[in-house]
Amino acid sequence: MKFDIITIFPNIVEEYINTGIVSKALKKGIVEINVHDLRKWTSDNHKTVDDTPYGGGPGMIMKIEPIFKAIQELKKENTIVAITTPKGEKLVQSKLKDFSLNQDLHMIILCGRYEGFDQRIHDNLVDYEFSIGDYVLSGGELPALVLVDGITRLLPGVLGNEDSLKDESFNDDSLEYPQYTKPEEFNGWKVPKVLLSGNHKEIFEYRQKNKKIV
Ligand code: SAM
Repeated sequence: MKFDIITIFPNIVEEYINTGIVSKALKKGIVEINVHDLRKWTSDNHKTVDDTPYGGGPGMIMKIEPIFKAIQELKKENTIVAITTPKGEKLVQSKLKDFSLNQDLHMIILCGRYEGFDQRIHDNLVDYEFSIGDYVLSGGELPALVLVDGITRLLPGVLGNEDSLKDESFNDDSLEYPQYTKPEEFNGWKVPKVLLSGNHKEIFEYRQKNKKIV
């Protein structure tokens, strides 16, 4: 599985992917992630990636030329070009699962900045537009990382114990049951007795009862 992430802030993305679960997946060769500086595909001295909006208005818009060149260079036959945008389809666990089942997945992810992208990018160069929620962030780096992290942790061999995925929130129509660890009591707050009982049937029933349905 391969991701090409295009951003004007590669350091934000690199810092994250070189830490924790995603970095383990990288080291094991389960995923390949290439982080690209969009300015690499500019041709002027100032390495310009944005310009003022036609029709006027505040802020700057990401230009099509560097993004077009980047996609031309990186895109292969089965590549999915994804764009981060608050206007996109809301990302959900079942979508992450679908992507994770495609071993040959190659995805280019475009991280926006400023007021977003020239509409011609959305209309002509992109296969999948996604949002991570109904709010506006200052850039697409976090959404891109949400997508990559969410897919990567589902891949075989990535998590230390893959049983973690079985009872997880959103696996079906429920959220995970409450979990506790030592000590049995802290500050007067106790762990439910049933979890200390060793009775597997009762523990199972407690957990089923305490899974919230969404
Ligand atoms: N002017 C845009 C609007 O009103 O929809 C917001 C642009 S936002 C400041 C800059 C970039 O951050 C976007 O182009 C997108 O790449 C990213 N972004 C912000 N919020 C996002 C979200 N909820 N989901 C996905 N991407 C987001």
